[in-house]
Amino acid sequence: MAQAVVPEVRRKPVLKQEIAFLLIHLMPLGALWTGATFFDWMVCIFLYVFRMFWVTGGYHRYFAHRSYSTSRWFQFVIAFMAQTTAQKGALWWAAHHRHHHRHSDTPADPHSMKIYGFWYSHVGWIVGPDFKETDYKVIGDYAKYPELVWLNKHYLVPPTVLAVLVTAIGGWVNGGSVMAIFSTAGFSTLFVGFFLSTIVLYHATFSINSIMHKVGTQRYESNDESRNSLWLALITLGEGWHNNHHYYEVAARQGFFWWEIDITFYILKGLQAVGLIWDLKGVPQHVLHSKNKKEAAELKKKYEAQNNRGPIAKPEKAKPEVETAEVG
Ligand SMILES: [Zn+2]
Ligand SMILES: [Zn+2]
Repeated sequence: MAQAVVPEVRRKPVLKQEIAFLLIHLMPLGALWTGATFFDWMVCIFLYVFRMFWVTGGYHRYFAHRSYSTSRWFQFVIAFMAQTTAQKGALWWAAHHRHHHRHSDTPADPHSMKIYGFWYSHVGWIVGPDFKETDYKVIGDYAKYPELVWLNKHYLVPPTVLAVLVTAIGGWVNGGSVMAIFSTAGFSTLFVGFFLSTIVLYHATFSINSIMHKVGTQRYESNDESRNSLWLALITLGEGWHNNHHYYEVAARQGFFWWEIDITFYILKGLQAVGLIWDLKGVPQHVLHSKNKKEAAELKKKYEAQNNRGPIAKPEKAKPEVETAEVG
């Protein structure tokens, strides 16, 4: 008999944080005063697409799931670029996301739409007091780098740097001089180019936490509500293949088949080609073609038996097999 699910007690959102979050949403309205130029709209679109890559390729696939390797300096760049989205520190983001995978759609999940409803899973858990702190134990593999811990604590530094830069460029392009930074020329780029793209990024990212566990289809039995959706994959540069991802979370690609468009993965392949990152983790065949963990284990045995049945039996000294990660 199925047991009744008892949700955890979640505290109400903190008014101060709610107001701050609301104020950010009101910032683009400043364009009613400044107007907006073609350039401002181009900056908005560019900053949305560009920064979505760092959310998915950085916060998510690198810090939360270690789906590829890189150098220490580029790892800092990844964290900095991801944090320009103002979605808090990379260690905070990744630690909570690991928690989500561990307890997906159970009461301990920070943002389960099934248990806590749409608004809580979308924004409530972020503006609430229950998940404010970073659990450094969960993210110990990266918390050993002091520069990442510093950035995690001073998480507003990257978005502030970007906001100032965007305003200066806006002043220069719209107003003809960087000195126009403090005029409507600079501010219109700030309101539309920076703030509007940041808000759209928020809700596209949050949709993965909320509706990606409700809307779409399930290819794999991942023991949770995760779904696959093409249109969410397009909006989020590949994160819409969320059921694939919950089934085998360590892979650098979330579109498992060639027709599952995953722009983040294509960019990661590009970064690998120029040597900035390496060891992109793939999806093993037995995972790809299975329906659930049991079938995956059976397929694995079958494929191994087939591979060992060569015309010339190889003598001893078989390399110990290194399994990158388990299904789950
Ligand atoms: Zn999920
Ligand atoms: Zn994930």
